[in-house]
Amino acid sequence: MKVLKFGGTSVGSAARMKAVAELVADGEQKIIVLSAMSGTTNQLLQMAEYIRVGNASGATDTMNILEKKYRAECEGLGIDYAVLKPFFSTLRRRCLQPFTPQVEKDIVSYGELISTTMMTTYMVQQGLDAALMPALDYMRLNNDGEPDMLLTERLLREQLAQTGEHLYIITQGFICRNTEGQIDNLRRGGSDYTASIVGAILEVDEIQIWTDIDGIHNNDPRYVEGTKPLRNLSFDEAAELAYFGAKILHPTCILPAKMHNVPVRLLNTMEPSAPGTYIDNHTSSGTIKAVAAKDGIYAVRVQSDRMLMAYGFLSRVFKVFEQYRTAIDLITTSEVAVSMSVDNDSHLKEILAELRTLGTVSVEGNMSIISVVGDLRPNNQGLESLVITALKDIPIRMISYGGSDHNISLLVSSDNKVKALQALSRCLF
Ligand code: ASP
Ligand code: MG
Repeated sequence: MKVLKFGGTSVGSAARMKAVAELVADGEQKIIVLSAMSGTTNQLLQMAEYIRVGNASGATDTMNILEKKYRAECEGLGIDYAVLKPFFSTLRRRCLQPFTPQVEKDIVSYGELISTTMMTTYMVQQGLDAALMPALDYMRLNNDGEPDMLLTERLLREQLAQTGEHLYIITQGFICRNTEGQIDNLRRGGSDYTASIVGAILEVDEIQIWTDIDGIHNNDPRYVEGTKPLRNLSFDEAAELAYFGAKILHPTCILPAKMHNVPVRLLNTMEPSAPGTYIDNHTSSGTIKAVAAKDGIYAVRVQSDRMLMAYGFLSRVFKVFEQYRTAIDLITTSEVAVSMSVDNDSHLKEILAELRTLGTVSVEGNMSIISVVGDLRPNNQGLESLVITALKDIPIRMISYGGSDHNISLLVSSDNKVKALQALSRCLF
């Protein structure tokens, strides 16, 4: 069995949905995870925002636009709009209710509820053996808001048994319930995570993530010409790339697959026969695979004379970040100072104030992490120097190497990001 996940653009219109139905209906049993049609999640969030600010008519207008769009898509698919009517009736009532964070979570779940209902109805109408397996009946979060793998496993197996023997089992990505049983979600882009969790739990042959690009490229095609899709990546390389910039795959999606050793294949709905990117636990040795960049980074430096031969300094610095639940990405240290990069500025002010009690603090915004990913084990001499040479004309704020065997990360001003990506492409590929 395989798990196939289709993202928003892959189900972005009636025509795209038909193409997906055709693509999956090859007679082999599979679980099909769907996102909301592209744009819908944003519109639902906009609707919730109108409710939050007390603009009920704004919310109703947004809802009317959505309903009109979906009527047309149903017509395009040749299915009866009546199957969606109950969703829109509930949404309409929601527009008039007072705002709570829960209302927002309820509203945003409709994108996936609707897309999966459309697809199931369409496929059944085509005479295909399809059935819907509601994610809200098996996907569960724990107290930390992370997937509760054990409970999800038990419920998923129950749901599968209850759904019965069908060739094409359709389920919602992204949506789930929390420990209270309320509707929740796996955060933006979380459908990949659903697919990975389901595939990992069931230890399927392969998890396929279908998008509108032919796999992860060796550099960012928005800034660099002539980038190429990567045929193979290891789980670790893919995780670094997903985290540090490659938008195609959600970073959380790799871990469950890696833990259960289920390969992940990234494929393109617009070009189904293209090989895409295959991700498993195999590292091809001695090569640099790809470069990616992540923007919106701050570099924070704490300098302390007392750090000289002192223990506990780093621990006090990290405590501050922990207190404000802010993750540090890169770290470099010298005997008297430590530099860190963070991408979350929601508590930066408080963090800086506390760090000032530990030493002299400086902060720089508008930075980008450039991440070079591949087989970078220390005894592969020469690869690091290639990277540094490529960037000889670019001021580098931090260099992080040796943290893992498959990554060199460099912090540069975002103004130099494109130049850095292009220079690396020229020298490495
Ligand atoms: N529909 C959700 C979003 O737009 C989940 C997903 O597409 O992965 O974030
Ligand atoms: Mg996505």
